Amino acid sequence: MTRVDELCYRDAYLRSVAARVLDVAAAEGPPLVVLDATAFYPGGGGQPSDRGAILRGADGRTWSVRAARRSGGEIVHELDPPDDGELPSAGDAVTVDLDWARRYALMRTHTALHALCGVVWRDYGALVTGGNMEPGGGRMDFEFERMSGDLVDAIEHTVNDELRRARDVRVNVLPRAEAFAIPDLIRTKVNLLPPGIEEIRTIEIVGLDLQADGGTHVANTREVGGIRVTGYESKGRINKRIRMELVD
Ligand SMILES: [Zn+2]
Repeated sequence: MTRVDELCYRDAYLRSVAARVLDVAAAEGPPLVVLDATAFYPGGGGQPSDRGAILRGADGRTWSVRAARRSGGEIVHELDPPDDGELPSAGDAVTVDLDWARRYALMRTHTALHALCGVVWRDYGALVTGGNMEPGGGRMDFEFERMSGDLVDAIEHTVNDELRRARDVRVNVLPRAEAFAIPDLIRTKVNLLPPGIEEIRTIEIVGLDLQADGGTHVANTREVGGIRVTGYESKGRINKRIRMELVD
């Protein structure tokens, strides 16, 4: 069991958390801080980690957090090295705050990419093979031999229709065996998960898409707004890439 309460997986809308410093490491590279609770997403599944700040209650000192990641099973916050070298200490009571504008843009982008996957799978039977995103835009790769400019236009139109339907987005955590019994999950990388993982987290855009996923998402597709396809390219005979961005 991790010592860290990883709140982003239960509540993607949590921007600020009271926490206590567990460990500080500054031997080499940027200072690293482990807290007993955090709202930070450590990155993964194509979604970059959050940025933000740590504020110490006792004296109001703040440190900028430039990234987070998972290290030794725990979420670790990577600080911008402060000019005066002062770091938080184990035991300090702090507040950890996300750069919320950035995180919320990532949530909207991530859900938009799942809507894209859902449409491409439902309407064309094409499997997703990978993806990546920045706040406000991203790309998905598909096994999609017959993709063309006309199809991409149709896909953009259909994705926007689906987003406007105000579909709820649900997070579920299922026992591994139950997750593997869901036919829709087979098209994602659930079968590549290490055998030791006993629970599978899924993201469902109700009525459109269901995937095993560790990221943070908006609660309803209406929060995404719309998308625009900004490009597509062939990565081989079968593998195709679609790029998109959010439009308000
Ligand atoms: Zn995802």
